Amino acid sequence: MSNATDKPDSAADEKSLDFIREMVAADIEAGKHEKIVTRFPPEPNGYLHIGHAKSICLNFGIARENNGVCNLRMDDTNPVKEDVEYVQSIQDDLNWLIDGWADHVKSPELLFASDYFERFYNYAVDLIKAGKAFVCDLNAEEFMATRGTPTEAGTNSPHRDRSVEENLDLFKRMREGEFPDGAKTLRAKIDMASPNIHMRDPAFYRIRHAHHHRTGDDWCIYPTYDFAHCLEDSIEGITHSLCTLEFEVHRPLYDWILDNLDVPRPQPRQTEFARLNLNYTVMSKRKLLSLVEDGIVDDWNDPRMPTISACRRRGVPAEALRRFCDIVGVTKFNSLTDVALLEHTIREVLNKESVRRFGVLRPIKVVITNYPKNGEEDCEGPNNPAAEDQGTRTMPFTREVYIDAEDFMEEPPPKYFRLRPGGEVRLKYAYIIKCEEVVKNDDGSIAELRCTYDEGSKRGGPTADRKVKGTIHWVSAKHALDATVHLYERLFNVPEPGADDRDFVEDLNPNSLETVQAKLEPSLADLKPGDPCQFERLGYFCHARESSPDNPAFLRTITMKDAWTRKKPKK
Ligand code: ATP
Ligand code: MG
Repeated sequence: MSNATDKPDSAADEKSLDFIREMVAADIEAGKHEKIVTRFPPEPNGYLHIGHAKSICLNFGIARENNGVCNLRMDDTNPVKEDVEYVQSIQDDLNWLIDGWADHVKSPELLFASDYFERFYNYAVDLIKAGKAFVCDLNAEEFMATRGTPTEAGTNSPHRDRSVEENLDLFKRMREGEFPDGAKTLRAKIDMASPNIHMRDPAFYRIRHAHHHRTGDDWCIYPTYDFAHCLEDSIEGITHSLCTLEFEVHRPLYDWILDNLDVPRPQPRQTEFARLNLNYTVMSKRKLLSLVEDGIVDDWNDPRMPTISACRRRGVPAEALRRFCDIVGVTKFNSLTDVALLEHTIREVLNKESVRRFGVLRPIKVVITNYPKNGEEDCEGPNNPAAEDQGTRTMPFTREVYIDAEDFMEEPPPKYFRLRPGGEVRLKYAYIIKCEEVVKNDDGSIAELRCTYDEGSKRGGPTADRKVKGTIHWVSAKHALDATVHLYERLFNVPEPGADDRDFVEDLNPNSLETVQAKLEPSLADLKPGDPCQFERLGYFCHARESSPDNPAFLRTITMKDAWTRKKPKK
């Protein structure tokens, strides 16, 4: 990987540490741990999204900065919603996101919570033996009814005082499949009057006769998240278990379970941070899945989705996502981040990485009537002015060129500086042309513009310095690369889709995808699939991965217009 990917490190050095990094630094200072071990524990029930990127950058970042390790663990304790497709996509997306940046801190192998099922079971038996867990026959409804409310204590289960022997026997028979789904649970014996509802004898095991994607039909009882998660962390020797704020109220239970079992010390410590929320975006996996299932988007990696695989397909550099997560930072307060900041960061990174080319998205033909009939010459433009090794590119110029329909208006408003009947404009890196005639089709649409050019107006010519107000892009009609171009916009057109009890699909942007047949600068055919380019004046594009020589395709990663820079106060 290039050195550029190493930059976030130095950026992190200069900044003050966030509260989690401060805590880790203090623990190292106090000699608490030999090695820092973090983990990223996705549930394989959907594709990773930009919110997960924040968690990945935090967990792998902390491991990276402290010569530690970060485990990738599939938190696959729920048999019903999980799928191998997701296990694969999670690995692919994670590897793409951290490649060249944190690969040396990756755990040696992919870990699965389901590999610990037997150990969880044994720990549960230990709790039963210690009189700290019991088998309860209340069904889900009865469980909820006896749980109390935030202001009222719950009531003890009638089965709370079963003997250890009876509990051991029943739990074993639960495992052996003797009881139907929901007939029994294993519950902690803590305190039904606890002000924290999660401490009121929470369920640790449920009966579920369901096939698991890895353990098959070996199990018909499955641990709850609360019971399994702290044990997964403990088994793997995690030092810092970082999760989002909604788990703060579960932390006493996390600690209670480990405190009451014979597990290695020091125990992992759970710390919570605010999840990333983006405006104009939905990030819940349930909602994303429904967009896929209802055919509103092509798939999880449809470039309009907020998933990591969609970002990759759309030409967003991994570095831009990492830099964005770095800028957003880590706090204890939930907030809504402006998607314009993400877009701004993508532009910043692409500005450096993209070659400049011309792309005419909605072509109108221009015939330059005083240009030699079979004439052809090269014009020269910059290759990438933002790169260290700039270089130039050449593009052929001929008598017939295409310009963008947006750059011509028959009856323009005031201050329209592009082409108009009788008006002049500079073709970028080439000549000044003047529109002499608009030729129409029978239906009134424009067939072509007939223009004349100022022969001396090219660079180095006698009238090269002549000023005209507008400069537009173009491509030679004879040489143009015909390509399909997908123009993506935000998937939602309101800042908070689904707010005020609306169905979030009501807020979909009906114009989030437009596909056009474009005329492109011919050398774009040489771009490798996945490579970025800037269509000058229009935005950043990417040579689509599904592109082929017969059917070239490009897609728009992001437009040029930067809503973030505009929002910042002027200096
Ligand atoms: P969902 O509720 O949509 O299913 P989840 O939070 O349950 O999402 P997981 O697969 O369990 O998704 O998440 C894996 C890890 O990523 C967890 O540690 C979780 O806290 C973290 N994470 C998920 N969403 C975000 C987010 N928006 N911002 C930061 N971290 C997140
Ligand atoms: Mg989860």
